[in-house]
Amino acid sequence: MSQESEQGTLYVISAPSGAGKTSLVAGMLERDEKLGVSVSHTTRPMRTGEQDGINYHFISRDEFEAMIARGDFLEHADVFGNYYGTSQVWVQQTLARGQDVILEIDWQGAEQIRRLMPGCVSIFIVPPSPEALRERLSGRGTDSPEVVVRRLKEASDECSHALEFDYLVVNDDFQTALDDLLSIVRCQRLRMQVQQVRHAVLLATLSDG
Ligand code: GDP
Ligand code: ADP
Ligand code: 5GP
Repeated sequence: MSQESEQGTLYVISAPSGAGKTSLVAGMLERDEKLGVSVSHTTRPMRTGEQDGINYHFISRDEFEAMIARGDFLEHADVFGNYYGTSQVWVQQTLARGQDVILEIDWQGAEQIRRLMPGCVSIFIVPPSPEALRERLSGRGTDSPEVVVRRLKEASDECSHALEFDYLVVNDDFQTALDDLLSIVRCQRLRMQVQQVRHAVLLATLSDG
């Protein structure tokens, strides 16, 4: 088995805040045990119901800046006035073990990852309409009205980067969007580059015929 083929696949998932990215990724993890998600570091305040180390590693700006200086992040960005970043070590080690990894990050992070890891698969999720986004963001009940307004304002900026991604998924009906995402993962695993290694013996036997 070559070094390259043992590596897991890196999926980068971006969406405007409130499009359903976190719920959809949670659904993907439930349905596919071979997928793992990277827990980002952030300086934003913890929401009710969130847990440190599960949703994010919640740290101070000083700690975050020290981590930047140490080169601990694969990528990091300022989103809505807070820092967000992906752990370099966790992602590299998990991919090296052959496990697939999902990053739920903003477009700026996606741009950095595409440059660093050109083999990654990037997916952009959109809501079915601006009204649906507004309803979901305020209906989620996790952010103050000011934060909701700010996130809605920034949604069009995030969406203006949609064409930079490999796939587009519209999260109208939740189950359909979840099936779309799982189909992308399934297709990726059927690629010849991956399959010729997994089924090397079968292919050799059949070609020896
Ligand atoms: P939510 O997406 O509405 O649930 O809000 P969050 O506060 O959890 O995330 C805000 C934004 O930060 C979203 O666009 C995320 O994709 C992005 N984000 C989260 N983690 C990271 C990260 O590690 N790196 C980067 N670049 N962006 C991140
Ligand atoms: P994000 O992580 O992109 O900010 P969330 O996963 O937190 O988005 O979803 C925002 C809100 O919208 C949540 O309350 C979630 O339950 C709801 N939601 C997600 N997908 C759908 C859908 N297809 N239809 C209706 N509501 C949805
Ligand atoms: P979360 O707490 O991350 O928002 O969602 C937990 C689970 O609820 C998800 O894995 C998903 O199965 C389900 N879910 C969340 N939002 C919706 C929705 O709008 N429609 C449906 N059908 N299921 C949802």
